[in-house]
Amino acid sequence: MGKKNEYSNGEITIVWQPALCAHAGICVKTLPKVYRPQERPWITIENATTAELIDQVKQCPSGALSYRMDNE
Ligand code: SF4
Repeated sequence: MGKKNEYSNGEITIVWQPALCAHAGICVKTLPKVYRPQERPWITIENATTAELIDQVKQCPSGALSYRMDNE
């Protein structure tokens, strides 16, 4: 299993698998308030709504980003 980084806002957890990331930057273009590659941690999940995050994760072309709902 490769490394997984998880980010939660209490409602949703975003999982990022660096080994799968194609660095296409679609996440950064779609939600620049959340995805900031120059910062650590680079994902600031609080800066978007859960619905915005889900829409964005679905656009990740490589499958590096996925999510699960925290209450399920
Ligand atoms: S959209 Fe997905 S593949 Fe592209 S940079 Fe973001 S996490 Fe990586």
